[in-house]
Formats: sequence, structure tokens, C-alpha cells
Amino acid sequence: MPSDSSQIDRLDDAREQLRRLFGFERFRGRQEDVIARVLAGDSTLAVMPTGAGKSLTYQLPATMLSGTCLVISPLIALMHDQLRAARANGIRAATLTSADADWRETQDAFRAGELDLLYVAPERASQPQFHDLLSAAPLCLFAVDEAHCVSEWGHDFRPDYRQLRPLMDAFPEVPRLALTATADRRTRADVLDQLGIPEQGLVIAGFDRPNIRYAMRHRDNPVKQLAALMAEQAGPGIVYAPTRRKTEDIAAKLAEATGREVRPYHAGLDPAVRADNQAAFVASEEMVIVATVAFGMGIDKPDVRFVAHAGIPKSIEAYYQETGRAGRDGDPASAVMLWGAGDFAMARQRLGEVAQERQAGERARLDALAALVETPGCRRAVLLRHFGEDPPETCGNCDNCLNPPGVIDATETARKLLSAVYRTGQSFGFGHIQKVLTGAEDDRIRQRGHDRLSVFGIVDGEEAPLLRPLSRYLQANGALVATEHGGLRLAGDARAILTGEKPVSIVLPPKRQRRRKSRSAEANPVGDPLFDALRELRRELAAEAQVPPYVVFHDATLREMAATRPASLTELAEIGGVGAKKLDAYGERFLDAIRRH
Ligand code: ADP
Ligand code: ZN
Repeated sequence: MPSDSSQIDRLDDAREQLRRLFGFERFRGRQEDVIARVLAGDSTLAVMPTGAGKSLTYQLPATMLSGTCLVISPLIALMHDQLRAARANGIRAATLTSADADWRETQDAFRAGELDLLYVAPERASQPQFHDLLSAAPLCLFAVDEAHCVSEWGHDFRPDYRQLRPLMDAFPEVPRLALTATADRRTRADVLDQLGIPEQGLVIAGFDRPNIRYAMRHRDNPVKQLAALMAEQAGPGIVYAPTRRKTEDIAAKLAEATGREVRPYHAGLDPAVRADNQAAFVASEEMVIVATVAFGMGIDKPDVRFVAHAGIPKSIEAYYQETGRAGRDGDPASAVMLWGAGDFAMARQRLGEVAQERQAGERARLDALAALVETPGCRRAVLLRHFGEDPPETCGNCDNCLNPPGVIDATETARKLLSAVYRTGQSFGFGHIQKVLTGAEDDRIRQRGHDRLSVFGIVDGEEAPLLRPLSRYLQANGALVATEHGGLRLAGDARAILTGEKPVSIVLPPKRQRRRKSRSAEANPVGDPLFDALRELRRELAAEAQVPPYVVFHDATLREMAATRPASLTELAEIGGVGAKKLDAYGERFLDAIRRH
């Protein structure tokens, strides 16, 4: 909080700069708190969810303070994205990486004090020449992006990040701003410690991403389910698939089923093809990419309209991070997880392979994920509680809030199912167990003598439909696990369920799905000739400047233009996302398009 009047003045200046440079009316979430600290010269760790607008918290002060802001970022692709966006807003920025040919000009510009932002990779921090370069001109801030990489507790530890501390310590008067979207308590404390930021410098924004609609469904026909999602969401999307082969398979089938452009992405692709698919995705307004989880790390595409999982993610943390790539521009977006009992069964089987001391933690991770998938309550509430927040009971924007599912007590049926597994010798798959329980006429059952077991035919026609969802539930929760040969055996809580100590209630899908209108159709006016013309113009300008369309303007900006029809540059400047540089570069052409439609 600002403590004196000069600081209040500076915040007013910052707001003015926000409007002028970025064309935004107000700060979002805790941006203002972070910026106030940076302007006051206080070191800070900002933990903010993806899409909260972390980059603005150093870009904006960098244009106000004298000296250059050094930005440390782990991926070259990410740096180049940021560079493009910063320059489009008229910020003087450069990158110094092995991929840049203009490093001499960049160094000269830095020495001459002509840069607001200089992006570098952490590897550079340990080079003595780099230290010399930094000594040659004033610095205003060290901004450390993806700061969790400095911690071994974090999920992407990068040893090079450990070199940052000695470098920053050599410039003790320069404040530090560390930024991350993913840091649990332990990682957070470690990042503060490793980067020499005081505890009171921690600013945590909420984890909620209100524009993302969460939905989780059982996977019965993934291609059909994904094609239905694509029919609802016309914009770009990411589908995460568990294996390389599946990414290619699903991509081919989706392209055929929908007629849209769908491409695969995984580490095994030819590097040129992979880079091409990624670049095409970033530039596209409607392409879908089917990828393994590595995809997305270095991608800053704000207009991703959906993220779908064709199999379970590794943990709630991973799920949050992966789905966080949807809707960074704040427009409505969907996160859909298609899960199968087999996913959990396989993950639990793999638990046996991890080191003993990590097993309990890994099991807890899976249990938390199973609870998220199986909850009849609000998905968002489960997610946010997992991150230590205290959210409202319902959110109104997840599948369970929109179509509350039924919950029924299935304890008795669960006991029958588990005893059938036990009595048939714990080596048969679900199909066989189901036949035994419902008393099916079947040669295999007779040959094995399973028609003489006490469990034969004890499930009647009314109860039978519960068996499959119940088996899924028991597998998700680890009471049933897969054997090597694809059979099922008892594990975990099976005994407690059999003895009646542990009740079982399961979630049944709502009887009829209420038809929902496509929300992106609500967001973007379909069939509005002016809006379409503005998009067309944006495509042209993007092609001319060789940048993705979203670098020119976001959809929200075009929507506002179409709705308010500004008639002059002054009116156009009032629209969100139209800063001075873009007004200058594109203003007349957009006004012209508005006049003609
Ligand atoms: P993060 O790095 O936290 O994931 P970004 O810095 O990429 O987020 O910002 C996400 C999007 O939000 C960007 O497209 C940015 O232009 C937009 N944005 C940032 N701050 C604001 C604001 N105050 N008002 C409106 N949009 C904003
Ligand atoms: Zn909800």
C-alpha cells in the first residue's frame, strides 16, 4: 500500500501509463500492489495465476523508471513472444539469446540506455562478460520469470537459476521481482530464500480463473466427444493426449471428423515439423493441436478457447497448470477432462515402480485427483480448496454447478461387486464380473464353475446399470486395481467396503444434459458483418507485420469496436486494448473499416 503522497502520485502516473501504453482502463487483481512495490524499489515475489497479467507488472514500471529492466526467462520462444507483444505496444525491448543475430546492436542499445527491457536466459547470468555488460549502464529492476525454477521443490528445477543470486547480489541497489504461477507453500518459501527477497515481499493473487468452465466426463468415445467440444468452441484449442502415438491418431481422426485444421505435437516429431506445427498454432484463430503435456510451456497464446484432456493429468497441480493455458485473454474458455477408469488403474499400478519414500505422496496426489473427478459438487471449489483457498460452495460455471448430478448410495452393490472379484480369484476383467453378477448364460462362466458361486446372479436388472460407474469409482479410488493381465484385484479400501465399515456413494450423470448455447458464440457476435470485417482486417495487418493476430488486437477489443462503432481516433482510443502505439499504427484502418460497414 502506498505510504506517502509521492507514492500515490507515482501510482497515478502508473494508471495513466496503463491507459496510454496498453490501452487498459484499470489494473487487474493484484497488479497494482506489485507495481507499487516495484516503483518503491522493494523486492517482491508475485504469485499470480496464468493470465493474471504478470508481464505487465515489470513492463509498465520499466517504462517509468530510469535504467533498463533485465528480464530472466527460461525459454527463448517465450522471450520472443513477449518481445513481440512489448514492441507492439511501443516498449523498447530486446532479447539477447543464442538465437539472435543482432546481439551487437542490442548491447550497444543497452549501453546507450535505449532499452526499457532486456530479456536473457538464465545461462547468461554466470558469464563474466555479461556481468561487465550490466555494469556499463543503469538497471532499474531484475525481473525473474518462472521463478519456481530456482527451487528444487518446484516441478521444473533449473540449476542455472541458482546463478542469478550472485549476479543480483553484485547490484545490491537494484530491486528484484520474481514471478510465478505455480508455487506451493514450500516452493514459495524457497524462492524467497534463494533469490534474497524478504518475506513481506510476497504478493499472492487468487488462483481462480473465473472465465474457465471446468467439465469432467467419462471417456466413452473420445473422438466424438472432442468433436462435439470443437463444434461448441470455434477458436483455437489444445488436446492433451497421454502418448505420442495417440496425439497423431486423435489429430488425424479429429481432422477427418470436423474438417478443421488439427495437428499433432510431441517430442518425437521431426524438429522442423514440430516447430512448424507450433508456429501455425500460435498464429491461428481456429487450429487445434493434439499434444503431449510438454506442449504449452513456452507458449503465450492468449486466445486458446479450450484445453481438453484425453486422459487423466498427473496431478491437480498439473491439471491446473495445463488448463490454465485456456482463456488468458479473459474471454470464456472451456477445460474438459475425459477420464477412464483404466487411467487411474494404470497410474496406481505404476505407483509400485516409484521409490518407496515417494509412494505416499504420489498416492495422495492420485487420491486428490480422483476426488476431483468424482465430486458431485463444484469443481472449482475443489480446485481452489486444494490450493488453500476458501471458495464459495458453488461457482455457476462448471459442469456440476450447471447440471447437478445425482448421488446415490451404492454400498450394497459395491460389496457384491468386490465379493465377485474376490470369489472369481481376482484375475478377471469387469466384463466377466458383470456377467457373473447378473447371472448371464455364458460358456466361459459355466466352464469355470462361476455359475455355482454364491455371487452368481445376485444383481437384478434395476441394480445392474450401477455396476459400470461403480467399477470406475472403485478403480479411481484404488479399491480395485488392474492386474498385469488386465484383470481386477482388491486393494486399498476394498476390505473396509466389504465389511461395511466404509460406505460408497457414487455420482450419476444428470439424466438429460441441458442444451447449452455455445458461449464463444455469445462472446463473439456470429454473423455480425462489422465484427467479421474487423477480424479480416486484423488478419491482414497481422500478416503484414508477421505477428499472430492477437498481437494486433484481442477479440475483446474488436467486439467493443463492433458494438460501439467509434468514429474518431479519440473515440477509438477509449476502447480497451487500444494504446497509443496501436492507435497510431492501426487506428485509421480500423476507423475506415467501421465507416464502410
Ligand atoms: P501471465 O504472464 O500472468 O500469464 P500475461 O502477462 O500474459 O499473463 O497477460 C495475460 C493477458 O492479460 C495479456 O494478453 C495482457 O494483455 C492482458 N492484461 C494484462 N493486464 C491487463 C489489465 N490490467 N487489463 C486488461 N488486460 C490485461
Ligand atoms: Zn462450480
